[in-house]
Amino acid sequence: MPTNPTTVPRSTAGLRWPVEPAMGGWYTAAERTAVEFALDDAADWRMGWKSAPYTQRFEDAFSAHTGADHAVAFNSGGTALEMDLHFLGLEPGDEVISCAINFVGPHIAVIGQGGHLVLAEPDPITLNLDPADTERVITSRTRAIVVTHWNGAVADLRPFLDLADRHPHPVHGPPVVIVDAARACGGRTPLGAVVGAEGWATVFSFESKKLMTTLGQGGMVTTNDSALADRLRWLRTYGGREHWGTNQMMTKAQAAVGLVQLSRLDEMNHARIRRAHQRTRQLADVEELTLPPTFNGRMHLYYRHNLLVPVAWAGEGRDQFMNTLADRYGVGSIISDPPTYLGHRLIRDHIGAHRCPRAERLTARLLCPCLHPRMSEADETAICDAIRQATVHTARTHCTSH
Ligand SMILES: *Cc1c(COP(=O)(O)O)cnc(C)c1O
Repeated sequence: MPTNPTTVPRSTAGLRWPVEPAMGGWYTAAERTAVEFALDDAADWRMGWKSAPYTQRFEDAFSAHTGADHAVAFNSGGTALEMDLHFLGLEPGDEVISCAINFVGPHIAVIGQGGHLVLAEPDPITLNLDPADTERVITSRTRAIVVTHWNGAVADLRPFLDLADRHPHPVHGPPVVIVDAARACGGRTPLGAVVGAEGWATVFSFESKKLMTTLGQGGMVTTNDSALADRLRWLRTYGGREHWGTNQMMTKAQAAVGLVQLSRLDEMNHARIRRAHQRTRQLADVEELTLPPTFNGRMHLYYRHNLLVPVAWAGEGRDQFMNTLADRYGVGSIISDPPTYLGHRLIRDHIGAHRCPRAERLTARLLCPCLHPRMSEADETAICDAIRQATVHTARTHCTSH
């Protein structure tokens, strides 16, 4: 079995456009002012870096934005997700379902919190968790379904909530639906709700690459479950006075910046969506490539612009295409992401012989060339031209070498 697949071009030294662009670079005078204000405030020895009033304001704004009853800020999306799982008190044999195509974080969190990770296949168009395959693997031991809005494509949660209702755990009742919205902050669901209002708990990340950022790291959970919200507040501050917990607080400066970024989120997302739709139009006549679906109404935020190469190019041909893009045109791209068990030993050991062949077949054809709303029109045109020419080049060389 292939292990440790590389997800980037073999040489990245000469890239003109990086494999993974950062949103963290898109700050305005308002973010700078917010940081300066926090800094001045912290210079007062009576206040220092005490974060509570700042975090509270950010959380209030975030719950108002999403329509969820509660928002609880964390130092990262990863810890936020892990604490949601911690709340469930998973026991040996308790199962958590998640899509095989994923960031490793959610899967390691399930394993770390004592759950049994059950991987399911992706939908071939959005690469989101497939409800039909989830139904195939759900059992009476399932405690949670983690739905990741993959690369910004907002998943419809209704089939998962239905499934959960139809498969209650004998002790704990219907499995909870945990939403990983690290790549879909500000998205809209098919019902028109803002991402964060549906499901049991929704996790956001404000890490440097994400759609809004808080000085490099940061996370948030939204929920309508006040018991969960209360517990999360203890968990991030050493358990209050009774429980286990640790320090997972967001800082004052991060919360101050987060408040500004949240007010700019729709504007930033719109710019990204426009850019992605533009690229999709530009490449529409390249028949070798399967382009991402064009969803309107913020149902796709295009955290990445997924391309699928032809079935005949799976694996080697895709790698060649990615290397050509990098070596000849300086365009970085990333395979985002192969099934987590291929690249992470802990996950591979955990799942034993279980495999997700559809996920493997799809991601052998996947690559995501650099996309960023702040790129100039000239850069965008150059990248589209490069994709077009690399396609021709790969069609010629890959076919003759086989
Ligand atoms: C970034 C990310 C996370 C983790 O967020 P951090 O804040 O980096 O810990 C979780 N899930 C997905 C899908 C992500 O992209």
